[in-house]
Amino acid sequence: MQKPNYGRILDEKLAELGRNNERPRLFLHACCAPCSSYVLEYLHGHFDITLFFFNPNIAPEEEYEYRKSELKRLVAEMGLDIPIIDEDYDPTPFYELARGLEEAPERGERCRRCIGLRLERTGERAKEHGADYFTTTLTISPHKDAAFINEYGAETAERCGVAYLHSDFKKHEGYKRSIELSGKYSLYRQDYCGCIYSRKLR
Ligand code: SF4
Repeated sequence: MQKPNYGRILDEKLAELGRNNERPRLFLHACCAPCSSYVLEYLHGHFDITLFFFNPNIAPEEEYEYRKSELKRLVAEMGLDIPIIDEDYDPTPFYELARGLEEAPERGERCRRCIGLRLERTGERAKEHGADYFTTTLTISPHKDAAFINEYGAETAERCGVAYLHSDFKKHEGYKRSIELSGKYSLYRQDYCGCIYSRKLR
């Protein structure tokens, strides 16, 4: 069966919002500043965005804090008036879900659980904050399975009662643009995904 074109689905949604003169509230999970750069550029004209930095997968703690600080610097330097919500560093839920999957390859079961954890928390927080939609910057990565992210996001939406915004931010050369923006803002571009297992493979 042909996979849905999530980039086109997003474009159609943005066009619909424009036709209806709507500007909904979007709760946007951010994995890091480089991935967020293009996504913010692309979406900030369409939504009232709240950024959510929740990434218990990242190790060590200094790396977590640095990625978070780069996200805050990016938003300030882009001149965007966007609140950023973050959670204190606590990798416990990540290590619980990764147990027994330490050697799993990237895009495997450990990654699916890791992404699922972040989507679930984003959906919950989106509900608490009264958002109209939630989504994640993660689909911009060529290393991530956009179909899985979108399917899991849609399932999470059913559970939390907030609509999921489908996306494939790689479309329209999104990944390439994120590299350009990373250069423009001198962003730190990490050379591993986030967890200690991916760090060993870098
Ligand atoms: S490689 Fe990335 S997505 Fe996979 S478990 Fe590690 S941090 Fe999560």
